[in-house]
Amino acid sequence: MLSIAHGSTGALIASKIPNPLISIPLILLSHFLEDSVPHWDVGQGLTRKSKTKKAAFFQELFFDFPLSIIVVYLFFQIGHPFDWRPWLGWFFGLLPDFIEFPYLFLNQRGPLFKKFATFHTWWHHSTANLFWGLLPQFLVLLLILLLK
Ligand SMILES: [Zn+2]
Repeated sequence: MLSIAHGSTGALIASKIPNPLISIPLILLSHFLEDSVPHWDVGQGLTRKSKTKKAAFFQELFFDFPLSIIVVYLFFQIGHPFDWRPWLGWFFGLLPDFIEFPYLFLNQRGPLFKKFATFHTWWHHSTANLFWGLLPQFLVLLLILLLK
């Protein structure tokens, strides 16, 4: 899913479960479970074509990634004193994508990167349909807003 969904899911889990030994594994699990729901993301159609890759990279860097920070701020911080837990959750919610980043965008093909990418891809189900691909992510955000 988009960083917006992963980051805010992580923030929700971390803010509800104070013990990081419990919340962090759950956050990581949430990442893969969310990726298993057919969804649209900026890596959509990401192939070996460098043009597509570049576009995805810039969408991620200038749209999805900063928006995930803004959403966590709006949902969990605005009107509250600084709390590190939602940010810890945001970080671990995105960690699997951070780990895959060098493989996808920097052509790092070492065996560990490759193994992780294969594992991540195994969970990943995407759809090219923008509406059906964004709907589950919109619902995730709505649910987080209701549960926070
Ligand atoms: Zn992912």
